[in-house]
Formats: sequence, structure tokens, C-alpha cells
Amino acid sequence: MKCPNCGIDNDKVLETRNTENGAVLRRRRECLECGCRYTSYERIEDRPIMVIKKNNTRQTFNPEKVRHSIMRCADKRSISNEIIDKLVENVEREVRSKAGLKNEVTSSEIGEEILRELYKADPVSYVRFASVYRAFNDVEQFIDEIKRLRS
Ligand SMILES: [Zn+2]
Repeated sequence: MKCPNCGIDNDKVLETRNTENGAVLRRRRECLECGCRYTSYERIEDRPIMVIKKNNTRQTFNPEKVRHSIMRCADKRSISNEIIDKLVENVEREVRSKAGLKNEVTSSEIGEEILRELYKADPVSYVRFASVYRAFNDVEQFIDEIKRLRS
């Protein structure tokens, strides 16, 4: 890497560290020309995940939309921003693992993950999301849904 001080590309790596749970490598480097020390960061290039919607159209996965739906259901509930961040993070991680090498998920798989996370976090928000998402016809259906999530 080019030295930020003298611009010459002749350095050695002094130390390599994992940060952000292994998502980012941080390297301390030293320029062998001028002795300047600097840090570089390395992360895997994000490939966008494609979401296949019910009408077969596609769009790129956007965690902000997940956050938006969760926040709408969590309105006036005492769920902190930290918890919502965590929920979005969990949904995103599951979506990434489901997308796999094909890099594709269906919108209903995302809906299922949001349901699962909300169920663990706050029953009221869960019911709000489920009633919109699943459009339950009767109480029986709703009870079945809860049983299904518990198993
Ligand atoms: Zn230098």
C-alpha cells in the first residue's frame, strides 16, 4: 500500500487484527522508506442480495426496509433502538445465510425472519406484524401460527 506520507509503495505489516467480529481486518503498516506508520482496513466486498417478490419482480435487499417494518410494528412499544438494531442485524444475518451462493431470497422468507425475531422480542409487535403479513382469517389460524413458531 502507498504510504500516506511519502507516497512510496514499500511497506511491511506490523500487526493484523480482526474487528467487528471478523468482518473487518485491521492492519498496522510501516513504510520502509520514511518510517511512517499507518492503518489499513480490509473487508469483503458486499454482493447485493436479490429479493424475489410475490409478483416475481426483483429488488436488492435493503435492511432499512426491515427496520422500517419493525419500527412501524413497534410503535409506542418500549423497545429501545439498540434492540431494534439487534433485530435488524439478526434478520440480515439470517437473510444472508438463506440467500447462500445464489444470493437470492424470497420476500416471504424475509417476512418469516422478521416474525421470528419479533416473536422473541415483543409479543405485541409480533401480533401487529403477523396480522398484516399473514392476514389471518380467524383465531384458529393465529393460534396455529404461534404453535408453529414455538416449535
Ligand atoms: Zn513513507
